[in-house]
Amino acid sequence: MSAAPRPRAVFLDRDGTINVDRHYLSKPEQFELIPGAGPALRRLLDAGLRLFIVTNQSGIGRGYYTEADLHAVNARMNELLTPFGVTFEKIYFSPESPEQPSRNRKPSPQSLFDARAEFGLDLAQSYMVGDKIIDVETGWNAGCAASVLVRTGYGAETERKEAARLTRAIVADDLPAAAEWILGQMR
Ligand SMILES: [Mg+2]
Repeated sequence: MSAAPRPRAVFLDRDGTINVDRHYLSKPEQFELIPGAGPALRRLLDAGLRLFIVTNQSGIGRGYYTEADLHAVNARMNELLTPFGVTFEKIYFSPESPEQPSRNRKPSPQSLFDARAEFGLDLAQSYMVGDKIIDVETGWNAGCAASVLVRTGYGAETERKEAARLTRAIVADDLPAAAEWILGQMR
């Protein structure tokens, strides 16, 4: 008997990808889903993909808000996604400011490696989605099948300013379009 296939995942940046980017968002009431995010995430789950968030939260290291604030915002996100039956397997966050040493801060692929170790994922059949160059680099650094840049958040600006570094990134208008592209890869 052959072993069961290892689960595949979509790793998602949070701010500017799942929710409207607010500079150093720290209050639950500031959290607003990107239009269509709930149904898009639902479709990924229905296709058998596991969902993870990988988010840099340097606002904690900079002293702008606390880890408790981050968890309160994440709780609001989960609450808004409940009607769609969307849950994340795990939320990885890096609280360090860019000057501080960090094991996981994107573009480090360490959070994806940690997820592979904990959940037995097949990273080569998994995807990374985000609105910054560090997001697409994280997916590449982890050996994902593809990295998708969304044009929401900083994405449109990234597409314009970082074209030379985007090379093999897939560019999609928003999270629903990214999900559509990923689902197309699975057929
Ligand atoms: Mg972002």
